[in-house]
Amino acid sequence: MASRRRIETRKATIAEYWLGSSEGLDRLRENAALIDLGEPHCFACGFDATEPEEPPEIWSVWDKAALDRCHLVPRSLGGDDLPSNLVLLCRSCHRDAPNVGDPTYMLRWITGRESYGARIARLANGALGVDELKGLADSFDSERVLEAVGVVGALLRAWTGTHGGYMNDSTLEAVIAEAVCRAGGRST
Ligand SMILES: [Zn+2]
Repeated sequence: MASRRRIETRKATIAEYWLGSSEGLDRLRENAALIDLGEPHCFACGFDATEPEEPPEIWSVWDKAALDRCHLVPRSLGGDDLPSNLVLLCRSCHRDAPNVGDPTYMLRWITGRESYGARIARLANGALGVDELKGLADSFDSERVLEAVGVVGALLRAWTGTHGGYMNDSTLEAVIAEAVCRAGGRST
């Protein structure tokens, strides 16, 4: 295990490096374009970690977001706490991300990570066979994906015991099923 010493680097500083400098933008590639500076999202899957009550203040709004600071190169392998070696990920992505000595692999993994919207669509299709959700692509420009994610996101906050924590597929499947049932006025 890496050192348990607290990371002092502010999340706002990390966000500013990756989304506000040309070097960070270049390294984060297309994922950067999907993230609004005033609305904290997981760098990898795009999970919306915005706290609704927070004022939309660029950079400082990131400090209170439910995102983990994750090393590209772990401390145990010599990685430092500079913003260039830290990214902001949701708990699920943090748990699943590679832990190796070359930052290239982490950055490649972030770019290729299934988006949160695509994950919800996949689980909905697989678990429920909901025809209406079929064909929802993993693109954030689809209004229907955003709509589905919004409904499920609200339910996630109100109805699960793991807010801000790791969300496994089975919990997410149950939330999707519940969301569909409630939307359709049916009971489970
Ligand atoms: Zn994520």
